[in-house]
Amino acid sequence: MKNEMTLSFLAIEQNEALARMALTCFIAPLDPTLDELSEFKTIVSEAVTNAIIHGYECDGKSMVKVHATIDDRSVKMTVTDEGMGIFDIEQAMEPMFTTKPQMERSGMGFTIMESFSDGIRVDSTLGNGTIVTFEK
Ligand code: ATP
Ligand code: MG
Repeated sequence: MKNEMTLSFLAIEQNEALARMALTCFIAPLDPTLDELSEFKTIVSEAVTNAIIHGYECDGKSMVKVHATIDDRSVKMTVTDEGMGIFDIEQAMEPMFTTKPQMERSGMGFTIMESFSDGIRVDSTLGNGTIVTFEK
């Protein structure tokens, strides 16, 4: 089976649920197990939340883009923001590293995304934005 979708939405926190639901429906035809589904939802949720709260600092006027493809049983997804970018990608991906401890962030987003996906790639330029790519 082949399929492809793009979703764009404003950088407000409510839209995390929108992205999670849309992507859940998108992969439903693959009949994922409950575990696979819950892992996939968590990946979407963590990546989209990062774009909204870190990339755009919830500015409510910029757009987050999620693009996904299904090719046979393999799902590829990118979450893109054109926000502030990541200063040091390697450091950002370390467990418990966060630049927003005051917001009660635990700094575990990337670690969780990494463990739940079959591959993750982060491209980011300071001032230009971030693209996170997953395979599952
Ligand atoms: P948690 O996900 O546990 O709530 P967190 O978001 O701080 O906390 P990670 O998701 O692992 O933790 O991200 C680590 C750090 O990487 C963030 O604190 C932030 O500085 C940076 N970061 C992540 N995604 C982006 C992004 N899209 N744009 C800019 N910075 C980002
Ligand atoms: Mg996070």
